[in-house]
Amino acid sequence: AAPLARAESLIRSIPDYPEPGIVFRDITPLLADAAALGEVIDALIAPFAGRFDVVAGIEARGFLLAGAIATRAEVGLVPIRKAGKLPRPAASVSYALEYATATIEAHDDLPEGARVLLVDDVLATGGTLVAGHQIVRSLGGEVVGSAVLLEIAALGGRAATGDVHAVFTV
Ligand code: IMP
Repeated sequence: AAPLARAESLIRSIPDYPEPGIVFRDITPLLADAAALGEVIDALIAPFAGRFDVVAGIEARGFLLAGAIATRAEVGLVPIRKAGKLPRPAASVSYALEYATATIEAHDDLPEGARVLLVDDVLATGGTLVAGHQIVRSLGGEVVGSAVLLEIAALGGRAATGDVHAVFTV
């Protein structure tokens, strides 16, 4: 656990970003550290090792983790993108944000019956991860689990998303 404690210390808290009263958790110092990045990628994979064929990363920071997971676990990668970025979206799910709605989309590039690990950087209210589940299912994939680097427990996302593997929790 000592190496992971060092990795955790590299997540930077930015007060009053993007709005007053919000503490933004910034994972970029952790990404910039080779040892910490390797350790958290292994920790994201560990509970699911050998049980998934594809990793689906959610734009944008989920992409960074998913790319590293894909090469380390030797699986393919499907990006789940914000609306309007993909030329041939086959699945589209809208979900509520605090004062707006967001839409995410994906191409139908999942192999038939693919076992999918869903990945994002931060779990907050859980809306994004729930929408990610719906995208994978509507593409015919089986979500074997979801993994995040950091869970912000006070926002209650776990109640919405069910079982999520969080490497770190605040
Ligand atoms: P949720 O849908 O409320 O769970 O919010 C999760 C999404 O918002 C993820 O895609 C995160 O990238 C992003 N997010 C929310 N809070 C933070 C934060 O403090 N740092 C980085 N990303 C965050």
